Amino acid sequence: MSKRYSFEFFPPKTEAGRDKLKQTRTELNALDPDFFSVTYGAGGSTRDNTRGIVLETLAAGIDVAPHLSFGGDEEAEVLSLIEQYREAGVRRIVALRGDIPSGMGATRLIYARELVEFIRKHTGDHFELEVAAYPEIHPDAPSYDQDIQFLKDKLDAGANSAITQYFFNADAYFYFLDACEKAGIDKPIYPGIMPITNYSNLARFSRNCGAEIPRWLSRKLEGYGSDLESVAAFGEEYVTELCQILLEGGAPGIHFYTMNQVQPVERMMEACKASHP
Ligand code: FAD
Repeated sequence: MSKRYSFEFFPPKTEAGRDKLKQTRTELNALDPDFFSVTYGAGGSTRDNTRGIVLETLAAGIDVAPHLSFGGDEEAEVLSLIEQYREAGVRRIVALRGDIPSGMGATRLIYARELVEFIRKHTGDHFELEVAAYPEIHPDAPSYDQDIQFLKDKLDAGANSAITQYFFNADAYFYFLDACEKAGIDKPIYPGIMPITNYSNLARFSRNCGAEIPRWLSRKLEGYGSDLESVAAFGEEYVTELCQILLEGGAPGIHFYTMNQVQPVERMMEACKASHP
């Protein structure tokens, strides 16, 4: 069976960033991905920006999935955005809970399962819905098994498939797939892959989202110090190998966190497609 490949962007804040993103999209689109996705700032902070990039990508004839969460928004606002996407011809959404943005106070976060139910209630089967999954378990989860049960709940509520948080340990993904299967999940779970280009940024980000950098890998990357070229070269070799192990082991495809950069994702995708079209 052919594999599914997708590329994730975040909405740049500046006009120059948006122009550069068009170029990045054109170059990555030449690799014929199944779709692009565009992240959504917690609390709707990137609402217009995300929508702008999504609609522009769609107008270029490219399949695209906006990420979406309730944040602190009213139902009517979220529904209006969903309707705009539907009218424009968007066919996919990545449905999320999101996190509490600092300064927003104690807003109750609406679980992704509730957003999936909301989208299904208002738009039926129009959208292909993706949700998030965590092979190393979400930091707020009460337990490993409960996190899997909550993933099952959002898939049972009508999501079509899941994309994982990034990870660097293939065993965590394969063990997670087995645990999901045992829990009765039979929908595809696509690994999310983060390229390694800058160790200190990656380490900070990983601490926040609960993704583990194995000790040996962090020691190896730390060893390169400020030699970013060597970090990037080793990172590309390691992550390309990780993708091959995942695809070989049965992953249904790969979702690349591009960080809005063409490289190293372009070379990694070429390697993946050459072995697993
Ligand atoms: P949920 O599935 O709602 O789960 C959140 C937590 O609550 C988990 O710990 C879960 O175990 C627990 N839980 C679920 N249901 C219940 C319940 N009924 N009772 C008690 N606990 C429960 N963030 C952004 O801000 N913007 C983005 O664009 C974005 N894109 C992402 C894309 C992917 C592929 C991934 C993996 C993550 C993305 N995130 C994004 C991060 C995500 O928003 C955070 O990880 C967030 O903390 C959880 O979102 P979720 O949709 O997984 O939440």
